[in-house]
Amino acid sequence: MDDLDAVLDRARRFADDWLGAVGERPVAVPVADADARARFDDRLPTHGRPAAEVLDELASALEPGLVASAGPRYFGFVTGGALPVAVGADWMVSAADQNAAVRVMSPAVAALEDVTGAWVCELLGLPAGSAVGFVTGAQMATVAGLAAARHALLAAQGWDVGAGGLAGAPVPTVVIGAMAHSTVLAALRLLGFGADRAVRVPADDQGRMRPELLRDLLASIDGPVLVCAQAGQVDTGACDPLDAVADAVGERASAWLHVDGAFGLWAAAAPARRHLVAGRERADSWAVDAHKWLNVPYDGAMAIVRDPAALAAAFSSAAAYITIGAGDPSGRTPESSRRARAVPIHAALRHLGRDGVADLVERCCTLARQAADELGAHPRIDVLNDVVLNQVLFAPRGADAAELSRAVAADGTCWVGTSAWHGRPALRLSVSNWSTTPADISRSTAAITTALDRLTGR
Ligand SMILES: *Cc1c(COP(=O)(O)O)cnc(C)c1O
Repeated sequence: MDDLDAVLDRARRFADDWLGAVGERPVAVPVADADARARFDDRLPTHGRPAAEVLDELASALEPGLVASAGPRYFGFVTGGALPVAVGADWMVSAADQNAAVRVMSPAVAALEDVTGAWVCELLGLPAGSAVGFVTGAQMATVAGLAAARHALLAAQGWDVGAGGLAGAPVPTVVIGAMAHSTVLAALRLLGFGADRAVRVPADDQGRMRPELLRDLLASIDGPVLVCAQAGQVDTGACDPLDAVADAVGERASAWLHVDGAFGLWAAAAPARRHLVAGRERADSWAVDAHKWLNVPYDGAMAIVRDPAALAAAFSSAAAYITIGAGDPSGRTPESSRRARAVPIHAALRHLGRDGVADLVERCCTLARQAADELGAHPRIDVLNDVVLNQVLFAPRGADAAELSRAVAADGTCWVGTSAWHGRPALRLSVSNWSTTPADISRSTAAITTALDRLTGR
């Protein structure tokens, strides 16, 4: 046990050092890729080393190349931090080392998944009794939801896709919004639907699917349809009008509605934002991340499917020595052996409670509004989106957006990524971290406007 004591001490020391400094560390990509690589000896060792030394070596080799993305002024992509309670629970997951594949391998984890899945459905206002698979991220959650859809829609045509595959199958028409997330396309590729075969519904200026055009489009399609809507467009935070989308889809005899709500579905947990996702409960499947807005450490997300049998049909498996069925955690996910991902998610929800989650979501939205107001007050910044959630999309006038992003990174106060909106290069500021304060926002917007003033020579 001496060895165990020593390594856990080292891990604890690393965590203390890292987490103690993450709020004040320069929030940039700290070293070039080649420098990060150079810190690791690339010769496979012949002889081993004591465990504690290995961790010391790792800590010093990793540290210079780590990004302070869990800190309060990292606004890139849609990046959550990690609530302390979830970090602690995640350590417990590793210590217990349970295989959360089948119930018999860990009755405790299987039970906890059941409880946590039901909590998530209740919190997000999704149908009780839905099946919840704990997966790595929203991409895999969408893969799981669309795999369930593929099974169910084809089974309704008398085709067993698990046995017969897609060749020769009466494949449903896939319909997506023009501003669907790239991971939805990845899921369509992976599942054999083909990204380019998906029919796209034009979006409005905020990136929302236009439901009247969806209705017209659906009227022109024969046979089953699989419609992918979105709650939380990654650049604008805008949500498709899910009630109107569900109305249009609901007129079909054979249809499945999936909602990619990686971050946006959390709007349902905050009373003042809930109207943005009205109608969400009418879909058949949902994808939602935990590592973004719930602030659980990577990785964790939920694939939620109204009809548990459809999800189980997509993922259950059997051999003489092991059966993975609907009641097993892995019977609801694409994996077999897997980490007990629900544990840190449970810890975060238990710690925050319904009120705490609502507060976390609302706080981030309020901070995004503050950032938009402060940036928008600058004479050479245009805020491009209606700031309804936690995303702010803005563009400089008289300077290059990518150059501004690099200048902000070099300053190190905060980090904002780039995108493009209707062809115009833009910057994205996403407020998703539990520890961000109004002072962090003001410091960051000041750093951004100062960088812009320098670039434009003011
Ligand atoms: C982040 C995101 C995804 C992908 O989530 P991962 O956790 O990276 O798999 C999908 N859809 C939207 C809208 C997102 O913001």
